[in-house]
Amino acid sequence: MVRAAIEAAATADPRDVPVGAVVFDSAGRELARAANAREALGDPTAHAEILALRRAAAVHGEGWRLAGATLAVTLEPCTMCAGALVLARIGRVVFGAWEPKTGAVGSLWDVVRDRRLTHRPEVRGGVLEADCAALLDNFFRTHR
Ligand SMILES: [Zn+2]
Repeated sequence: MVRAAIEAAATADPRDVPVGAVVFDSAGRELARAANAREALGDPTAHAEILALRRAAAVHGEGWRLAGATLAVTLEPCTMCAGALVLARIGRVVFGAWEPKTGAVGSLWDVVRDRRLTHRPEVRGGVLEADCAALLDNFFRTHR
C-alpha cells in the first residue's frame, strides 16, 4: 500500500514536495491516489491525503464516509490531514516516514488516536520508511 503511495508521490509537480497518498476500500481495491499539489494548485490545503480522500469519496459511491477504507501515505500526516482522516471515518492509516516536526499521527501530536474522539483509526507507521524518507531527502537536497 505504501508502495502505491510512493508511485503517487512520483507524480507530484517538480515544485511540490513529493508526498503521495492512496485510498483503498475494505477489499483492498484502490479507490484514488494523489500527490501533494500545494504549489501546482496554489492551495495551502492541497496535501496528498486531502486530495486522495476527496477523490475516493467521489468514486466509492457511499457519500463522504470512508469507513473500512485504508489511506496509505508516504509521510506522517499533519494536523489538518489527521483531522480530515478522522472526519472521513477512515478505518486505517498506514504511513512511511515519520515527521517529527509536524506529524500528527504519533510524533508531535496523535490526533487520530485521541481518546476523546469516538472514531479512532488504526495506525501503522514506518512502513517502507527508508524509501519514503529518500523521496524527501532527494527533493530537499536539490531544492535548498
Ligand atoms: Zn497534511
